Amino acid sequence: MPSDLFIAVYLLPLVAIWLGWIGYNKLRSHRNREILEDNIQAGLMEPNSLHPVIDPAHCLGCAACVRACPEKKILGIIDGKAALIEPSMCVGHGACATSCPTDAITLVFGTATRGVDIPLLSPEFETTVPGVFIAGELGGMGLIKNAIEQGRQAIVYAAQRAAKVRSTDPAALDVLIVGCGPAGISSSLGAIERKLRFVTIDQSSLGGTVAHFPRGKLVMTAPATLPMVGVVKFGEISKESLLAFWEETLAETGLKPQFEEQVTAISRRADELFDVTTSRGSYVAKTVLLAIGRRGTPRALGVPGEEQSKVVYRLIDPEQYAGQHVLVVGGGDSALEAATRLAEQPGTTVTLSYRSAAFSRARAKNRDKMNRAVEDGSVQLMLESQVRSIGTDSATLAWRGEDRTIANDIVIVCAGGVLPTQFLHDIGINVETKFGTV
Ligand SMILES: Cc1cc2nc3c(=O)[nH]c(=O)nc-3n(C[C@H](O)[C@H](O)[C@H](O)COP(=O)(O)OP(=O)(O)OC[C@H]3O[C@@H](n4cnc5c(N)ncnc54)[C@H](O)[C@@H]3O)c2cc1C
Repeated sequence: MPSDLFIAVYLLPLVAIWLGWIGYNKLRSHRNREILEDNIQAGLMEPNSLHPVIDPAHCLGCAACVRACPEKKILGIIDGKAALIEPSMCVGHGACATSCPTDAITLVFGTATRGVDIPLLSPEFETTVPGVFIAGELGGMGLIKNAIEQGRQAIVYAAQRAAKVRSTDPAALDVLIVGCGPAGISSSLGAIERKLRFVTIDQSSLGGTVAHFPRGKLVMTAPATLPMVGVVKFGEISKESLLAFWEETLAETGLKPQFEEQVTAISRRADELFDVTTSRGSYVAKTVLLAIGRRGTPRALGVPGEEQSKVVYRLIDPEQYAGQHVLVVGGGDSALEAATRLAEQPGTTVTLSYRSAAFSRARAKNRDKMNRAVEDGSVQLMLESQVRSIGTDSATLAWRGEDRTIANDIVIVCAGGVLPTQFLHDIGINVETKFGTV
């Protein structure tokens, strides 16, 4: 019969596809809601800078934004609408907003509950303190491409300003560049090109935030123009290849930044010069270009022995600690991830010290992994403990009412970071606090 044939050939497959689609959507919603709820529980709902806000009234649930995001898994569909399910991992690519066919996505800074401080800048990248310029993520816009472009432009204005400062101080630099991430590298190359007298200082190493990405992390970046080098088209590149590119650039251009030196204070003198104090000394400069990003400075423990090179503030490569006694300090995701990854290394003994009684600020999957590691004895957990001092081959912790000394080769402190806001206030730079606005 024709109607039976119609049902068998057309209707049944269509119904099967439709039911399959409903089932897939339910499963997808369920998984995404679980991720979101895990992040709510762990208190990880505050994006670092520019991030999407989705208007559900205009969202079609087509998932174009989910597919467009280079970081993947930041957005997800829940009940037919897009949602920001991994807010703290959003780095502000903005591809979600451009891909949305109904303009349902707005990119904003901060949230209603947590403001983000954005320094006030002139179109010439100058702050409210004349002579102090800002380039890169510190100014609000994330991404390597933006940092490179802003660094290249800001140094032009800093050079113009320096040329106007009348100074008889022979030690005065034209510009002191703080930070050697993409913005600092770009402005430093611009300074060489313009034959400026300058110094570039970084509290850590070459490459900025990228240097601290996990091993093998893929970085997506659009073309940008680097002074002395020209247009660089990285596309998708591994963290290691990008760092190798920066190393080569330094070798080819003769740029010699000073690493492991931290700028601690900047003050403007009556003669318009700046006194810049660092962890190693001081400088005098006609202008200062801040390219320090927004990730801040790792929070230190402030205990005797912390100045030793065996104390680090991030785990990048667990394999380098195979066979060693490692103490991890902290109770957030990065501490738990570090401890459990280290515990997988052959011959490594891992102790995790956390000052609180429970891991309330970590994702469920990391807490579960940690519980398993404690159960199988690969991590020794010291909750409600505090590091007292760090020796050359030991560390002493206050735990359960007494001091306990353990064998130690490496200390990894994962205690969060101190944001640059106070540093900007101390220099006198005005900032605007944005609570979910553009
Ligand atoms: C997990 C993650 C993934 C990302 N993925 C991408 C990606 O795929 N593509 C992309 O384009 N962007 C990505 N980003 C963003 C990108 O890394 C940043 O936007 C970019 O690095 C900003 O460059 P910057 O030069 O402004 O600052 P940073 O790279 O943050 O560099 C700032 C430098 O200043 C130094 N510094 C800070 N304070 C001081 C001080 N007081 N004294 C001396 N030195 C100081 C720091 O040590 C650092 O080296 C990602 C970010 C994160 C966190």
